[in-house]
Amino acid sequence: LRNDPVPATATLKALDLAHHLHPFTDHGELRQEGGARVIASAQGCHLTDTDGQRLLDGMGGLWCVNIGYGRRELAEVAARQMNELPYYNSFFKTTMPETVLLAEELAALTPEGLNRVFFSNSGSEANDTNIRIARSYWQKRGEPQRTVIVSRKLAYHGSTIAAASLTGLESMHDIPGVPIPDIVHAPAPFWWANGGDLSADEFGIEAARGLEETIRAVGPERVAAFIGEPVQGAGGVIVPPATYWAEVQRICRKYGILLIVDEVICGFGRTGRWFGSQTFDIAPDIMTIAKGMSSGYLPISASVVHDAVAEVVFDAPGRFPHGYTYSGHPVAAAVARENIAIMKREGIVDYVGDDIGPYFQERLATLLDHPLVGEVRGVGLMAAVELTRDKTGRAPVEPVGSMATPVRNACFENGLVTRAVRDCLVFSPPLVITRAEVDELVAILRRSIDQAL
Ligand code: PLP
Repeated sequence: LRNDPVPATATLKALDLAHHLHPFTDHGELRQEGGARVIASAQGCHLTDTDGQRLLDGMGGLWCVNIGYGRRELAEVAARQMNELPYYNSFFKTTMPETVLLAEELAALTPEGLNRVFFSNSGSEANDTNIRIARSYWQKRGEPQRTVIVSRKLAYHGSTIAAASLTGLESMHDIPGVPIPDIVHAPAPFWWANGGDLSADEFGIEAARGLEETIRAVGPERVAAFIGEPVQGAGGVIVPPATYWAEVQRICRKYGILLIVDEVICGFGRTGRWFGSQTFDIAPDIMTIAKGMSSGYLPISASVVHDAVAEVVFDAPGRFPHGYTYSGHPVAAAVARENIAIMKREGIVDYVGDDIGPYFQERLATLLDHPLVGEVRGVGLMAAVELTRDKTGRAPVEPVGSMATPVRNACFENGLVTRAVRDCLVFSPPLVITRAEVDELVAILRRSIDQAL
């Protein structure tokens, strides 16, 4: 085994600045700040950097390390599978045991009727796949003009050109060529920013009606699918009002539109049930899963397709011309299966739903007594803390980010990883976080708000 010494932190930072292009990063700013923090190891819910600082990971990596860091079982299963069969594919009428068994497991775990699984490697790729499945469905049903996918403002569905087009964050559309044609964005069910004088429940209905207006403006006969996250995650943990999803589903049924539910964040226990679709009573035609499926230990994602859709798209004569070299990768599949087995064995989903999720929400809500905290919203182990100087009027912070960014930086200095989205701080800790760690998170956050603002 290679055993060369790891260079000193300063050398790593310099090499990183010279050669490594970071996602979603202002490299000028990074250079000014002296380079990136180097994360060297992790255990449970804590990261350690090369300077020896311990950080409580309030983001679970990027909303993905559901069972926490340092699970030897996942490393061992990966090594076993690499020795047995490190790679093969299912392109040419072949398959692999771990891939088959994972598909079976996912069919059993996901809601009724979702029994057919198409594997990809990332959430973005799975959503690209979903666009092609939805359009192929309508083509094969004899309605090829149904090509439009309706997404929402503030949605995050990924970063490939098609997934970035689905994404409803304006900054993602800055590079020419995005959005691609035939993708439109309906309003987000974001009560704090847009609810005005309406109650949350009234606003939920209004936001869903906004979807209907979007569909009617396009022409319902042109719409293939609506895609939505049960809770919009990267857009700022936007928990929809209780009235919202029932109305959205009524509208999709009324116009015969496929419903794609993007569970990349909400899936695998995050909201206190296996899937956000169960928490919000949603019946998807296609479900996107990724992240928590393997707790981020290896990249793997999937489109889980309802029988009624799969029969049209995949059981018709001819082949579906789509797939990735690593679709159904046997090592990633083995790791995902072990991850799911651990979640079941340790009762992690019930722990989130019945114990630590409610505790986390309750503890975060104690921040509402702070004059600069306007709203604490969340479900299970995902949450946002909305900072404001106008608790009652809910006027947007000017300039955007001027409250949350310094608090986020102070949190980092104080040993807590969080992320600023506009002027809220978002959280998505590992699902195995303890009560003591939740207390630590809330205490650091309160202290950081007081220090930074
Ligand atoms: N969909 C949702 C809801 C996400 O939150 C993300 C990533 O954060 C994606 C899709 C894209 O996943 P990936 O980054 O694996 O391409």
